[in-house]
Amino acid sequence: MLSWFKKSKPTPAPEPVAPAAEPLPPPTPPAVSNAAVALVQRWDATIAEIRARLHDVLFEAVTASEPLVATIRSDLAPLVLPWNTITPRVHALREELSSAWNAISDEMSASGAFTHEALYAEGCKRDLAGCELELMHERALGSVMARAADRMLAAAVTTDAKVHACNQCGAALERVTPVSRSLNVTCAYCNSLNTVHPGDAMRMFAASGAIHLAADEARPSGDAMRRMETQLRQYRDKAAVPIALLIELEATTHQYWSTRLAVEARYNPDDAPYVQPKLDRHMKDVLRTLRQYWQWRDYETQRG
Ligand SMILES: [Zn+2]
Repeated sequence: MLSWFKKSKPTPAPEPVAPAAEPLPPPTPPAVSNAAVALVQRWDATIAEIRARLHDVLFEAVTASEPLVATIRSDLAPLVLPWNTITPRVHALREELSSAWNAISDEMSASGAFTHEALYAEGCKRDLAGCELELMHERALGSVMARAADRMLAAAVTTDAKVHACNQCGAALERVTPVSRSLNVTCAYCNSLNTVHPGDAMRMFAASGAIHLAADEARPSGDAMRRMETQLRQYRDKAAVPIALLIELEATTHQYWSTRLAVEARYNPDDAPYVQPKLDRHMKDVLRTLRQYWQWRDYETQRG
């Protein structure tokens, strides 16, 4: 019996457990006045409240977009116009965040309960929150545009497929890759070579929709890259920046641009030769930033 067989197997000796280290004494908390705690809580609550309001604005816009997305065939304009009205609302909320910080940082300074560093740390929250507001907006808009671009692509494939018939025998040509340039396709029935030209719908998709699919696919690394850039700007002392952050920024920037350019080139094969030069240019830009840090220069020297 399997269970019996299992039981008969010798149980592995437990991993040796290192003797428990003496617990470190808790760090002495800095003396924080109730006034300071209350101010920090109020600031955190203000940030959360502004985020929640943007969330509501975006949720409403995404919901209102769904019926429009369903109508998209070859043009994104029906979505661009309503979303243009959202942008000033995002800006207004960012302004509100800045004004709130200006007011509360005055109170924090006046309270005398904040060190210079503590006040600076509270100010960093404004930059991080501002970055998150932008990313929330781009994510919501980007997901709507990507769904619309998917519909453009589906419509283009259907429309173009109708005209992809063999010149010799009239059979439908299979495996026509949906791209924006002419292709040679062999007929599966009579073996003759056909040159297939993309239809207008495919050209429209490649010109205006593909970029949204590319941005959407690259979004996770794009968001991570933007957060790291914000974080990096918050170090007043360049020497204090951990090398891990710089290494990760380089890797994430590479990930973002290679994904984005590759997806764009997937639908615009004529762009393929430019993917590598474009990627090199973006990497050159990030290296210019990274080389401002001695940690990075050291790391680069060691890396060879
Ligand atoms: Zn044929």
